[in-house]
Amino acid sequence: TTLPIRRALLSVSDKSGIVELATALAANGVDLISTGGTAKTLRDAGLPVRDISDVTGFPEMMDGRVKTLHPKVHGGLLAVRDDAAHAASMEEHGIGAIDLVVVNLYPFQQTVAKGAGRDEVVENIDIGGPSMVRSAAKNHAYVAIVTDPADYPLVISGETTLADRKRLAAKAFALTAEYDAAIASWFAFADQGLTFPDTLPFVLKRAGPELRYGENPHQHAAFYAAAGTQARGIGQARQVQGKALSYNNYNDADAALELVSEFRDGDPACVIVKHANPCGVATGATLTEAYRAAFACDTVSAFGGIIAVNRPLDRATAEAITGIFTEVVVAPDADEEAIALFAAKKNLRLLLTGELPDPARAGLTAKTIAGGWLVQSRDAGRIGLSDLKVVTQRQPTEQELADCLFAWTVAKHVKSNAIVYAKDGATAGVGAGQMNRLESARIAAWKAKDAADKAGWDAPRTIGSAVASDAFFPFADGLLAAVEAGATAVIQPGGSIRDADVIAAADEAGLAMIFTGMRHFRH
Ligand code: 5GP
Repeated sequence: TTLPIRRALLSVSDKSGIVELATALAANGVDLISTGGTAKTLRDAGLPVRDISDVTGFPEMMDGRVKTLHPKVHGGLLAVRDDAAHAASMEEHGIGAIDLVVVNLYPFQQTVAKGAGRDEVVENIDIGGPSMVRSAAKNHAYVAIVTDPADYPLVISGETTLADRKRLAAKAFALTAEYDAAIASWFAFADQGLTFPDTLPFVLKRAGPELRYGENPHQHAAFYAAAGTQARGIGQARQVQGKALSYNNYNDADAALELVSEFRDGDPACVIVKHANPCGVATGATLTEAYRAAFACDTVSAFGGIIAVNRPLDRATAEAITGIFTEVVVAPDADEEAIALFAAKKNLRLLLTGELPDPARAGLTAKTIAGGWLVQSRDAGRIGLSDLKVVTQRQPTEQELADCLFAWTVAKHVKSNAIVYAKDGATAGVGAGQMNRLESARIAAWKAKDAADKAGWDAPRTIGSAVASDAFFPFADGLLAAVEAGATAVIQPGGSIRDADVIAAADEAGLAMIFTGMRHFRH
């Protein structure tokens, strides 16, 4: 099943690495055929190459729309080599077998992304390229199809194995599927004037092996990557060490990274997540300080947590983190000492993301329901100071305002109903996922009290805190629970028919309350 490459057809838009590949192939005695631009690149590098027009007996024409669409090409790709009738057809029509195709396609997605006009987009719909990709991939029993410069090493020797040809074929069909989906999506969205936020398709591609299991051991699971510019997030992080990630690890690490990214331009920040909810979030003068403050919010839940930070991980912070068992640490980068320190902890995974993703980026999120997906634009909504409306008699102090904004940012990433108390740039109590807002307010306060008791503090950190609610208070009771817990400032969307009651209760208690006009449900 190992086959020699005798003839190769090279036709690439992205010419990186093509000269090196062609040089090695030529040295191994492979005949090279090529299309216009690619042939010129190879010839300029001093390589012997035959023009495709010489093979087909037709010129490349119509602005390159017709170059390789010809039986001399597709016959050479599709012929079953050990079928006598196929061999006879090749003989009769003077068709030469092609053993390797190296193609990458016109940059359709990039052309759309840069905002090109209709004609330029249409011209960047590659026709001959995907046709060759599909012919070669179908006939992978004999032909190798390379669509990615990263795979050039697989064919550089001048021989291919069946296992490699199968893998390359699978990748090739995934590529053409993604490519056509991008085109279909452009027609559906951009071309029909729809305002759905991203014209790129929501195409899923299997990335990596099957996960050990899903949310529970009796479920199967794998990670599928989004296509194009959507592929930016925890799924693209580089794992430096530790055992493979599980389904739940991915889910939690995603929640941690998305939240910490909100702080990417701010002070050092640390997020600790459990079961997709933050149990401690803090900023600090240093990353170590931020970690300690986040940890102090809920030392019980932090055990076995997922940690994300907004700065390169340093040794001191790494050392502090290893004080208890942690499942995953996510950071933009890590210094050598931090990496060395983690290396001894075999069960700890370290994921490096590079520059944190932009929290305001466009994109789609999907959630499965039985029978399909619910798709929506990312919750990229952010409030600025000018969006805030103080609705109480008392204005917030500078510190209250800062804590309100911090609590609001965290609440956006807490499952609804979300109530978050914060003080001095750190969460004091987080109430998540309750079926009514009053309970979330009470649970968050109770957790703050428990943390104070465990740490031996005089009072829970909810005293003098700011409290954020991800959606409006439908009644005054949730707000009164926050008053009872000692909050002095409130941030919430507003918009309830009982806003007047809630504002009156806030005034009565001497609170400062801010309306944002924006809700952040998260389910
Ligand atoms: P080159 O730069 O070599 O002139 O062109 C390379 C590009 O042409 C590749 O991206 C390849 O997919 C594309 N291509 C090859 N054959 C055809 C064809 O017959 N029609 C069209 N539209 N594109 C082709």
